[in-house]
Amino acid sequence: MKKISIVVPCYNEEDVLSIFYKEINKTLLKLTQYDYEIIFVDDGSRDGTLSIMTKLSNADSHVRYISFSRNFGKESAMYAGLEHSSGDYAVIMDADLQDPPELLIPMIKTLESEDYDCVGTRRVTRKGEPPIRSFFARMFYRVMNKISDVDIISGARDYRMMRREMVDAVIDMKEYSRFSKGLFSWVGFKTKWIEYENIERAAGETKWSFWNLLVYSIEGIVAFSTRPLMISLVLGILLCFVSVLLAIVFAAKSSLDMLALIFCTVLMLGGVQLLCIGIMGKYLDKTYLEVKARPKYLISEKNVEKYNGKHSE
Ligand code: UDP
Ligand code: MG
Repeated sequence: MKKISIVVPCYNEEDVLSIFYKEINKTLLKLTQYDYEIIFVDDGSRDGTLSIMTKLSNADSHVRYISFSRNFGKESAMYAGLEHSSGDYAVIMDADLQDPPELLIPMIKTLESEDYDCVGTRRVTRKGEPPIRSFFARMFYRVMNKISDVDIISGARDYRMMRREMVDAVIDMKEYSRFSKGLFSWVGFKTKWIEYENIERAAGETKWSFWNLLVYSIEGIVAFSTRPLMISLVLGILLCFVSVLLAIVFAAKSSLDMLALIFCTVLMLGGVQLLCIGIMGKYLDKTYLEVKARPKYLISEKNVEKYNGKHSE
């Protein structure tokens, strides 16, 4: 019997966790030919999430949980879940039912009968999302695909089912600053995309502010492209030329406006320098974090062991 591991990162999801469990079981009932495990990862929730998890786990032996010592972020939660998963297939799902459980059926069918290693999902609409947010999201995908080598599908969710080989490949990427959308694409493997319309959260509220998303997209770019370093270099060279040129022009005709112009030039050069230093600093910051090689998460409590089967060395 093949086994499916369902990894569910949860941060303050007490409102929705029981609903999620009920809904996912409706789908799992239709998949009786498979063994399964549900691994809830409590990402340092401050509400009753963990106690709901332990309750579910005590009542149902398919349910496992991992609880972090603090909030490490969804990326760490997904990583921990995958590391502890032992299924032939692993799937990542949000707790808020924005990832429709019934899609598990076509996903598994595809992996069983077609020559794919992974089935991903993408939202084709962003209904119910603030338009400004959708706009910036689209911009991000466009920029990201232009400047990085990885191909990131617009609207792709983290909701995806992968074969063990691909899961192992993702786990093997040990970097600390994780941008999973990029990692999934970087490891390759054949992916089929299922499209669906955006669904609003079943209960509770989103953990991602606009600011969080902005920071996350910068992380993504820094993780998968060094083009910004090149941009800052080219910009620097260009501005040097311009300033020399300006100096010559204004030396030739000493007008009174010169002071204002010098002021503007200095201001602009200062700004550009800060921008370039900022870009470099961002990469240095990432390098610094990787060099420290800190754990991506710390567990305070769990009832599932790290999987040490096929992907152990
Ligand atoms: N999440 C997490 N850690 C965090 C933030 C979010 O594990 O620091 C989980 C959250 O519980 C949910 C999923 O990641 O299961 C997606 O979060 P959310 O629904 O808030 O994001 P949105 O769907 O609004 O982008
Ligand atoms: Mg959500």
